[in-house]
Amino acid sequence: MKGKVIPFINSLHEIELIQSKDKAVKKRGLKLDLHGFSPSTNSLHPFFVRFMRVLLVNLLEVVDLEVSGSMVKVDSFVPKGFMGDSEDRFKNKASSRVDYQKLQSIRWSEARIELVARLLRKVLSFIDLMSEGRIVRIDGFRLKDLNHWMVYGSNMGDFFPFLRWHCNLSCIFCYQDSTHPMLRNLKPHISEREIYTRLRYYSPRRRTALFDQRFFEMNEIMTHPHFLDVLRKFREKDSSRLMFLTNGKALTEEMIRELTFLRPVGIRLSLNSANESMRRKIMSDKNPEIAVNSLPLLKAYQIPFAVSILALPFLPLKDLENTIHYASEHDAQYVVIHMPGYSRYINPKIQSDLDRDKSIIEIVKYVRRIRNTIKMPVTFLSDFYERHVMGESKLPVVIKGVVKNSAAEKAGLKTGDRILEVDGTRILAGRQVISALHLCLRLGIRNMSLRIQRDNDILTVDFNRDCFVEQYPYYPFFCPMESRYGVEGMIIDREGLDIDVFKRINDIINKYGARKCLVLTTILMKSVFEELLLDQPVFYDRRVEVETAIPRSNFWGGNIFTGDHFMVTDFIECIEEWVESKGYRPDVVIIPASAFSWACGWKRDIGGKPYFEIEIRTKIPVELVRFQ
Ligand code: SF4
Repeated sequence: MKGKVIPFINSLHEIELIQSKDKAVKKRGLKLDLHGFSPSTNSLHPFFVRFMRVLLVNLLEVVDLEVSGSMVKVDSFVPKGFMGDSEDRFKNKASSRVDYQKLQSIRWSEARIELVARLLRKVLSFIDLMSEGRIVRIDGFRLKDLNHWMVYGSNMGDFFPFLRWHCNLSCIFCYQDSTHPMLRNLKPHISEREIYTRLRYYSPRRRTALFDQRFFEMNEIMTHPHFLDVLRKFREKDSSRLMFLTNGKALTEEMIRELTFLRPVGIRLSLNSANESMRRKIMSDKNPEIAVNSLPLLKAYQIPFAVSILALPFLPLKDLENTIHYASEHDAQYVVIHMPGYSRYINPKIQSDLDRDKSIIEIVKYVRRIRNTIKMPVTFLSDFYERHVMGESKLPVVIKGVVKNSAAEKAGLKTGDRILEVDGTRILAGRQVISALHLCLRLGIRNMSLRIQRDNDILTVDFNRDCFVEQYPYYPFFCPMESRYGVEGMIIDREGLDIDVFKRINDIINKYGARKCLVLTTILMKSVFEELLLDQPVFYDRRVEVETAIPRSNFWGGNIFTGDHFMVTDFIECIEEWVESKGYRPDVVIIPASAFSWACGWKRDIGGKPYFEIEIRTKIPVELVRFQ
């Protein structure tokens, strides 16, 4: 057993013994409101005292208790109210504000800490903890042995959220302005001490780190006062790639030079506009030239980067085009276009600005046209969104762009090529290409051939060893889109249903012996899912009725409709409405697992509610399935 277990005095008799030894306490003891106390009070029943003692002893094995940010040793407890209501009975004054971590930011990622906190709160609602004969007002706790809270599977990228700091800009479209009130008051950063503690516990060799913590405010990591120091210390432990997102305000030549000592490092720059006055206007950047000039500097210092642009409907499309060309001129690996998303908490004035003028379809068409005229990949976040806007569902696997000097470019692949086969395997979905090539690369195979269609010709394109020689701006270590969007420098429509999704659905149907199955999906996914479903034996045999429904995003509202943002309550409402409209209940409900992916395996939604509450409330079996 680790840590010292503090013995608790668990009977009135023992408390009296202690009090009688301490004159001061005895004096105070005269003030006790014993009249309100009866030996038959449930709270003092020996069973209950024993129960409280067991709970406390177990809790204190895991945590140390704190008062105003300092550890406190408690030595006894009394039933709540036993010591009367005089202020003298307290050892400490009501706590001054201490900067404790908010539990809300931990409950997604480490549900056990929430359990400890809840138990502690409950226990403290029944008893008062004492130290040297006086009550201590516990207002926080500290995890005792951090080794108990290590998780597996961490990498450098997981660490960056802990470096986020106050943003040094004030964008007119900042998503933080329309965050849900529940997430608004989360502390956006952790203490310097905690960062270094986390760094100490991070082990790249074992791939372990302290439990994750979710903040829903991205903010800016380069403004962190210890940004470079933390990264240097990180580098001493881990030589793998460092990639981070920045608004570019701090990307001076001096900073870029410092970053070269941290190689391999890559940046995703939220530029939005390469026009200084436009950037000043939309991001309130008083020194827009720093971010704009950082592109040639990054190129000069050979730091790979990608550029992100929020396509604001009220800005001229020409500005979007110029920014894409500017990124391409300076060898950005790729440009990713975001569409403005907002919740119902957005300022109405900004909402009307985001909704006015151009339609989204106009922007998508415009970007597609630019995409076909330049070599650098230009993609939307997300592909599903692009296809949804254009009313496309099942599409051939087409290369959307090829990163300069990448293996794909050296092999001779071009934007617009349609991939038909990889090493003799027929390709039906973008994910297949990625999986097949990743597998070859993992196995050390450097000779692969792709069968492609270019215009009306069918060609074979071969990758060989020479293709994989690293050359700026392409480094396989830095292409954040690689794992999800493409491989070896070719960006393809990666999204689409996971090939295995229907097998998993089939397994679930068999598991429950279901005849009626309800699949909850999103507006982006529905048509793709239904179209592919028609090819599945489970559907065309008509053994099982598989139906789909789309929940409403009540929590967020606005124009947010991605599956990741659905809440337990949204799913419940959708199922209940569906059952009412159909007049029968499905045997099983299948829900996208992405809505519960925030919680590091705890399967909770963004509000911290576990998915099984859907099952409890609807009384219908619920299964989570990864669709992408
Ligand atoms: S850079 Fe990002 S966090 Fe900062 S104001 Fe702009 S949108 Fe918000």
